[in-house]
Amino acid sequence: MDQHSGVTLFGTGYVGLVTGTCLAEVGHHVTCVDVDAQKVEGLCRGEIPIHEPCLAPMVARNLREGRLAFTTDAPAALQGAGIVFIAVGTPPNEDGSADLGHVLDVARTIGQQVTHPVIVVNKSTVPVGTADRVREVIHFHLRQRGLVFDVEVVSNPEFLKEGAAVADCMKPDRIILGTRSGLAAAALKRLYAPFNHKHERILVMDERSAELTKYAANAMLATKISFMNEVANIAERMGADVEAVRRGIGSDPRIGYQFIYPGMGYGGSCFPKDVKALAHMARSNGYAPDLLAAVDGVNRRQKSRLFQHIQRHYDGALAGRTFALWGLAFKPNTDDMREAPSRVLIERLVAAGARVRAYDPQAGDHARTLFADEPQVEVCNSAADALEGANALALVTEWKQFWRPRLDHLHAALSDRVIFDGRNVFEPWEVEAAGLAYHGIGRGRSV
Ligand code: NAD
Repeated sequence: MDQHSGVTLFGTGYVGLVTGTCLAEVGHHVTCVDVDAQKVEGLCRGEIPIHEPCLAPMVARNLREGRLAFTTDAPAALQGAGIVFIAVGTPPNEDGSADLGHVLDVARTIGQQVTHPVIVVNKSTVPVGTADRVREVIHFHLRQRGLVFDVEVVSNPEFLKEGAAVADCMKPDRIILGTRSGLAAAALKRLYAPFNHKHERILVMDERSAELTKYAANAMLATKISFMNEVANIAERMGADVEAVRRGIGSDPRIGYQFIYPGMGYGGSCFPKDVKALAHMARSNGYAPDLLAAVDGVNRRQKSRLFQHIQRHYDGALAGRTFALWGLAFKPNTDDMREAPSRVLIERLVAAGARVRAYDPQAGDHARTLFADEPQVEVCNSAADALEGANALALVTEWKQFWRPRLDHLHAALSDRVIFDGRNVFEPWEVEAAGLAYHGIGRGRSV
């Protein structure tokens, strides 16, 4: 190994931890830095703070084989680095813009501590123009220290999906490199070569276009979801079944089946904040983002849609009733509850005087912390446990294990014999044939 061939990565969240581990898996020497000392201590022992399929054994193997290390010591981590990734959070500010505080903190640390030329690669989702700001901050500190070498800053937005992050990282659809430096592009192509073996997946463009590509991709996906939720809400009022409509339009290859599932609205740490941040960028640059504003507005409304079905079914009389909730995470295969539709449903049920018994295969611990001060919410240890004493069931996250429950068991367990299906995973006729009432999203029911 030459002196500066290592990879250093700032931030060990969903993106940083998965990226660092996958880079180690293909043979790079990776040091991950985080400011959260407790997290770093746990990671050094191989304890993974998130649920992500396949990640734990990969971290353990690369720790054991000496290709992966975790530390809070940024100066030490920078010593052997040739490439330095920034993968810290960019949460939303009050006005919808992205908070760049963590990204610029890392830029300052690099500028104050690095002792040799490095390539800085930004993986965080950041507003257009951030690569320039990061470069300025680093060079400002280098100048203050009397150092004259160059530090290149590349935009390399991340497209992994929580729940499939390792697979996405090992086999990306595309790797976007935003840089005008041929040397930096070549160095990153070498780094990513093991992920780019079968066919060309690397797209090189300028930094600003790379930064905007990430927002455009998430906004497009969010638009598809809000569009389909809008169609569902129309279908519901017109006696049409959105599931038939979905298949009908998905069969057109220009539309396709992906991301046209109606439901309870998008959540998670990316779509809501990225749609708002893109809209904010547009407004700040003199453009009124009407479509993005509608996408966000439809989504906000949709998060209350299942609650409205519940309220209507009971003529508003929810006080004292108990609802079993299956699913808390914002989507299956993750423990992430950031902006999850389950939170809106729980808040509204509790405000209406109802009790909630909730179960999620992975998000239970987060939920216990979130609802610690809420005596009307109990987080249960199994799907069956959540049904104990429940009047009705609400299906909120479409984990595979919820798809085909024993309907005779539900009939026996739910005293009001009704299911509210926020993800359209049940067949209405099957549920009704089992003697239970059914309410889905956009399934031709009266308003
Ligand atoms: P996260 O909140 O899970 O993790 C961020 C980590 O950065 C935390 O562990 C935090 O302690 C650490 N951190 C904060 N400041 C630091 C500093 N100065 N030095 C070192 N570590 C620091 O975030 P995430 O979900 O991994 O997202 C990171 C970025 O990637 C965001 O911009 C996000 O929008 C983007 N992104 C996320 C996903 C996703 O699915 N989560 C997908 C693509 C892109």
